[in-house]
Amino acid sequence: MLTAGKGEASYSRRKKDERICIVSILEHGKWYITQSVLNLNHSTSIFHLCLTFRYGIDATRNMTRNLTSSLLSSSLQSATQGMDDDCFGELNFLHYAMFAAFILSALELLNFLIKLSGETAVTRFGSISYIPVRGKHLDELSVKDYFFISLNKAATPPFVYFLLRYLYFEPNSQWDLSFGESLSVTTVLLPLPFLFIIYDFFYTILHWALHIKAVYGYIHKHHHHQKAPSRANVDAVNVHPIEFFLGEYNHLLAVFIWCNVCGMRLHIVSVVLFLALGGTMASLNHTRFDIEISLPFGFSRTTSSKRPRSKLTIYDTKAHDVHHRIPQSNYGQYIMFWDWIFGTFRPYNKNDRINPKAQLDHKIGKSLEYIEIEESSLKKSS
Ligand SMILES: [Zn+2]
Ligand SMILES: [Zn+2]
Repeated sequence: MLTAGKGEASYSRRKKDERICIVSILEHGKWYITQSVLNLNHSTSIFHLCLTFRYGIDATRNMTRNLTSSLLSSSLQSATQGMDDDCFGELNFLHYAMFAAFILSALELLNFLIKLSGETAVTRFGSISYIPVRGKHLDELSVKDYFFISLNKAATPPFVYFLLRYLYFEPNSQWDLSFGESLSVTTVLLPLPFLFIIYDFFYTILHWALHIKAVYGYIHKHHHHQKAPSRANVDAVNVHPIEFFLGEYNHLLAVFIWCNVCGMRLHIVSVVLFLALGGTMASLNHTRFDIEISLPFGFSRTTSSKRPRSKLTIYDTKAHDVHHRIPQSNYGQYIMFWDWIFGTFRPYNKNDRINPKAQLDHKIGKSLEYIEIEESSLKKSS
């Protein structure tokens, strides 16, 4: 269990644990290479690989725990010295670099898995379909797009760090990983729907405010030059850095309201799920995958079935696709509950006009129109 810094002794113990952990990873690495070379032609290499994998998981888990603990106790010491201190002042650069590399790698892995599983579901199993392109697809990203995407990705590790740091001080947060009092349904699963509802209440209002004419051109217009998002996380974070900052820290606000204002207990596992599910849904909103999560009761009627049945749609990627084409609608990030309350919800209409040339070649992620222009210019030049 993580506990608040208990002085010099516990800090040095953590440092020692961490050194042992790094040395252990290096030793396992060296052992594996030596054994693999010695047994290159033997089937035992598979066994060694499995053993290393197991050691790798143990070592990574210990290192992550020690790094987080070390990062947080460093900033705890700094924070207790007064508000004027820089909370990164006493952080070890290597610790922060490793933490940032871990968060960014996790993001890239998540994005890769989303695209891979979506494509597999469409092409191999036929369990989902592509949403047809109706607006103009942004085929080429500009230098400004790459600049904003890089800035926003770089801003993610500090955001996760500050969220962890807040939870470290929050009395209602739970860190103990043993089942029972701390890790339970009421601290992990119960808070999740509320966190999404609280998050989207503020996000829907923020998003609506960013569409007010006087401010739209300065911040949010950049995100809307993509009318048919397709690149998952890349198109999702292709926003003005101010918008990204407000959207990310809105997660911290939701956690703060749940723990501090409502006085409810929240386990760190629930926060990790909140971020991972949120990241997945925000990324899926910026793909062409038609994914809908519904409960078999409610007020709306399905559009895909010939025999309409009642259902309650919780999440639908088509809702955000509608927003990119018709911006004065569907301001929510994850759920359309608040749009439904505020009267800004606009349902997806499968009968809206489709331009065949605007459709994407999903293997290369460009529109057919773009490919045609590229090919004709190549022919002219040759
Ligand atoms: Zn969007
Ligand atoms: Zn918008």
